[in-house]
Amino acid sequence: MRKIPFLDLKKVHNKIQPEINKCIRDVANSGFYLLNKKLYQFEDSYGKFEKVKHVVGVGSGLDALTMLLISLNVKAGDEVIVPSHTFIATWIAVVRVGAIPIPVEPNELTYNIDVNLIKRAITSNTKAIIVVNLYGQIADLQPIREICDENKLFLLEDAAQSHGALYKGDSSSIFSDAAATSFYPGKNLGCMSDGGAVLTNNIEIANKIKRLRNYGSDKKYEHLELGFNSRLDEIQSAILTIKMKHLKDMNSQREKIAKFYNKNLSTKNLILPFKLESVGHAWHLYVVRTKNRDYLQKKLLEDGIQTIIHYPIPPYRQKCFNNIKFETYKLTDKICSEILSLPIYPYMPKSHIEYVVSQVNKYSS
Ligand SMILES: *Cc1c(COP(=O)(O)O)cnc(C)c1O
Repeated sequence: MRKIPFLDLKKVHNKIQPEINKCIRDVANSGFYLLNKKLYQFEDSYGKFEKVKHVVGVGSGLDALTMLLISLNVKAGDEVIVPSHTFIATWIAVVRVGAIPIPVEPNELTYNIDVNLIKRAITSNTKAIIVVNLYGQIADLQPIREICDENKLFLLEDAAQSHGALYKGDSSSIFSDAAATSFYPGKNLGCMSDGGAVLTNNIEIANKIKRLRNYGSDKKYEHLELGFNSRLDEIQSAILTIKMKHLKDMNSQREKIAKFYNKNLSTKNLILPFKLESVGHAWHLYVVRTKNRDYLQKKLLEDGIQTIIHYPIPPYRQKCFNNIKFETYKLTDKICSEILSLPIYPYMPKSHIEYVVSQVNKYSS
């Protein structure tokens, strides 16, 4: 039987593995492992790549989100509007700082936060909106920016799935106050451990994150606030600097696979991804939808094709938020019961892509 993995990082890295191995050895031999040249070099070059003034590397995407909220003084009793359909980290960060997550359902086509439902979720306690560029597609930032300006709210992006994606041909940082991202190995730009960053044009936010990641300290042994130990280390920074040079190419390979899927997958019993014309998409995930999701996933697995559900249980139904009362989010529940992510990654073999198409079509027509 064939084996089609959801993601094969060995294949992703294959061409650049010698260069990565060398950089790991170089850092190991250098004697400098934290808050040093490799980090600052990566922050600088990634900022240029994403066309944003400041990149501050931290220990994970969750830490980036959490420290970002703290840097904006979001605290107990505040409300933060979040998508009801997202990965748990977006919500954990909000609850971790003592604020209340206010869920807003997604647009049924893009799966990103429904702009038309945001206004009614705003109260006098609302401090910020965190949009998630889910599956790689940037949220519709321009109208949300207008809502934020009218109501004096921060607009934050969870950009953990959208490395390199543009909004209306330009950097999304033009519209948001800051973005938090992750360099978890499976992301479009991933390192070889945990890692993350805050991206912003606002130097005050950048400086606060620099302080928070390092024990709340600007100057050694002087601690201005309760900080974290959450730093992107020198080895990961060196790896990311190398991988970053290939991000554009890797994203265009993802796009090619997505276009092949779009063109060749049956639409009989399958809803394919919907991309807004002017909104960029990093194709982190290729998510289809069907009423027969569990059947399709089981049949594909029997044929050796690994698929994943992003995500099977929405955050508002997770036990960790049992102490918060939520209404029912019907569309989110429906989406979670119907979605399935198909394999997509740079250097995915053509034969695998074709096999996925033929087997998905076999079970959905
Ligand atoms: C991966 C991810 C995160 C969390 O990143 P970590 O580095 O794993 O903490 C947050 N939000 C979204 C949407 C993600 O996909």
